[in-house]
Amino acid sequence: MAFELKKGLFAIDEMRNVSIKIGKVIDEAEEWDEPMGPTPKPGILELRKWDHKLLDRFEPFYAPMSDYCNLCTMGPCDLSMNKRGACGIDLKTAKARLVTIACCIGASAHTAHARHLLDHLIEEYGEDTPIDLGPDVNVEAPNIRTVIGIRPRTLGDLREALDWAEKEIVKVLHSVHIGNEESYIDYESKALHVSMADHIGMEVADIAQIVAFNLPKAEPDTPLVDTGFGIIDKNKPVIVVVGHNVMYSRPIMEYLEEQGRIDDFEIAGLCCTAHDMTRVNAKTKIFGPLSYELRVIRSGLPDVMVSDEQCIRADLLEACKAVGIPLIATSDAAVRGLPDVSDWPVDKIVDALVSGKLPGVFLPDPEKVGQVAPLVAEAMFKKHGGDRKYRFFATEEDMWNEINKCTQCMNCVFTCPHNLRIDQGMAHAQKTKDLSKLADLQERCISCGKCEQACPKNIKIINVIMSAGFDQLYNRTGKTRVGRGPVQDTEIRNVGQPIVMGQIPGVIAAVGCPNYPDYASDLKVILEEFLRRKYIVVTSGCHAMEIGMTKDEDGQTLYEKYSGSFDAGGLVNVGSCVSNSHISGAAIKIASIFAMRPLRGNYAEIADYVFNRVGAVGFSWGPYSHKAASIATGFNRLGVPVVVGPHGTKYRRAYIGRYYKPEEWWVYDIKTKSKVNIEPAPDSLLVAVETKEEAIVQLARLAIRPNDTSLGRQIKLTHYLELSQKYLGALPDDWYLYVRSEADLPLKMKDELLHILESEYGWKIDWSKKKILEGPIRGFDAGFNPTLVEEVYEKYAGEKPPQ
Ligand code: SF4
Ligand code: SF4
Ligand code: SF4
Repeated sequence: MAFELKKGLFAIDEMRNVSIKIGKVIDEAEEWDEPMGPTPKPGILELRKWDHKLLDRFEPFYAPMSDYCNLCTMGPCDLSMNKRGACGIDLKTAKARLVTIACCIGASAHTAHARHLLDHLIEEYGEDTPIDLGPDVNVEAPNIRTVIGIRPRTLGDLREALDWAEKEIVKVLHSVHIGNEESYIDYESKALHVSMADHIGMEVADIAQIVAFNLPKAEPDTPLVDTGFGIIDKNKPVIVVVGHNVMYSRPIMEYLEEQGRIDDFEIAGLCCTAHDMTRVNAKTKIFGPLSYELRVIRSGLPDVMVSDEQCIRADLLEACKAVGIPLIATSDAAVRGLPDVSDWPVDKIVDALVSGKLPGVFLPDPEKVGQVAPLVAEAMFKKHGGDRKYRFFATEEDMWNEINKCTQCMNCVFTCPHNLRIDQGMAHAQKTKDLSKLADLQERCISCGKCEQACPKNIKIINVIMSAGFDQLYNRTGKTRVGRGPVQDTEIRNVGQPIVMGQIPGVIAAVGCPNYPDYASDLKVILEEFLRRKYIVVTSGCHAMEIGMTKDEDGQTLYEKYSGSFDAGGLVNVGSCVSNSHISGAAIKIASIFAMRPLRGNYAEIADYVFNRVGAVGFSWGPYSHKAASIATGFNRLGVPVVVGPHGTKYRRAYIGRYYKPEEWWVYDIKTKSKVNIEPAPDSLLVAVETKEEAIVQLARLAIRPNDTSLGRQIKLTHYLELSQKYLGALPDDWYLYVRSEADLPLKMKDELLHILESEYGWKIDWSKKKILEGPIRGFDAGFNPTLVEEVYEKYAGEKPPQ
């Protein structure tokens, strides 16, 4: 006989021969009394209505690189001039499908990473390992609470969230098969959906590693670690790890700590794995972002390279082979054609790599990687006796031989993503022996190698540029604040009100890859402008390490000048790519902790709250990866606008509002129980800018929200107008749209602006009181309570929304 007892307390007397299977034990303390909202574990359709609210206002704008589609064997299909492909699809829908595919790739990268980590950590630490993110974090998984509707207490609980994310990614991937959607808007809705799942994957991954590896738990004053090309002590064996999964590099640190030998080695990371290594052990260092990969390898500094997964060059093995650096590939996502040596004894693997019998191995066993990498590094170091090549050419003559081969054909310039004038630098050096023009390219080159592929003379252009600019490169050292993970509940309590009211003018989230349009140091210039103006700046990934190696004239980086607190004028490094979930999480926590909005399964209400009230703006100055696409699109669904650098246009779509169509800018006001026309704030959800000047002005503009108080709007407009005058030399042409009353006007410019409103825009002004009588889209109302969501209106107004 079988009984199924689902819930409650049971006493069974005199049991014999009974086997009892206990599922999940939930004690009273674990109950979460927040009522379940309308959309726990939403499928593709549950949030479609919210997506349509966004997409109605921010019409997707496509900038196709090509009018052709090659996705299936019926192609190529010419989709130009309103033609349709053999499957019936039109150009817009085909482009929306590509965006959806990019977001699926990004979301699956983080989610697979999360699955790998979680399964491994549950096996190692047990599924009952509690989720403890420190004493100041009680709302510990805001994305999971809001989307999934659970409050995870243990590592095991995270499985439920991850199962959901994996299921949704597969469902959205299904929809991109030919013969599915015929509406570009519905593909966009799916892109938004899968990107929301991406934030779940990221949150699972980072919470799991924080808990299991004891990474910093929301501490604002984490240590500062050495960052940049010149940080390496060349008198020690050098282990360099590249990628995104710290599971493989952590055993290296542990092994060396156990041996008491960690100080005898240099352990440095490239790309996000560097952040996570420093979160595990602040003795490790950050070599630099993704764009440093080839230059680090070609310098010959590493004694061994360890690769894990994502954003690693697909010619890593070739690059390592060319300079004789042994490679250990660890992740099944990037096996690199190498033999699997998991079953080999450690000595045999070390011997094969050091002797050069094998240029690289695939070793997916983290514990073995922990032993093999230091042994290989030490043996390689002994081989060259510390006399390592690190100047890109063995001799100066070798460098000049390369420079003198150049015929100024410009093939390199045309293929370079930044059209860097390599030809001019080479010609100048040939004529004058002056390397300065080539050296100037060093900071702007992203070491992609496209120029070398195009060069008919096979010149090692990257080596020439890096060698010419070696002093700048080598002196580019600095400090990065170790990624802190989540934002504290107490910090949210302190800043929630000033952010929502507008007195803190905005939160700028600088996230993304290093495909910058010009000098890498521009990123620091942009972010410092906002730090000085008391915005909160949050960062992660390659952007976070880029600003760690850009110093002021006084030799300090931003991390040394600004506090790590989530507060006005604070600079918060949350950590690696997967830590981006703490940025979306912070926006969600404002709705929960400050405004007491229920999170549980309540995504549309929370996103609506963030969209109308939280002046957060995402910023990706050098977007590159598919993950950047899904991270940004996930922010978009949460109501956070994103500004991308010029390369962001290559994602092929933007979400742009039509400020000139007043009928598209409205909200329901719960207070007055009416439908109210509003200013276009924010006026875009995803927009690309060309220059750093444009970026600065656009970021200030997109931080404006309908809910700003008069003081808040006045502060935000002051920054917007000042920045526009400072960087673009004029007032912006849309500033008047954001004025609701004279109290919104920047104090210093009030008279001047009132005159402009009267003379240029025909507004009526009572000059005796300096009061606006007529003109604004709407007046300011202190009790204004905006929402775009009918169900939210009904919940708080107690009646159906007005038509
Ligand atoms: S997916 Fe459609 S448009 Fe694209 S190649 Fe195939 S048939 Fe042509
Ligand atoms: S390696 Fe540098 S110079 Fe060459 S194409 Fe790439 S960015 Fe341009
Ligand atoms: S492609 Fe080669 S030869 Fe031509 S300009 Fe560039 S570096 Fe010189």
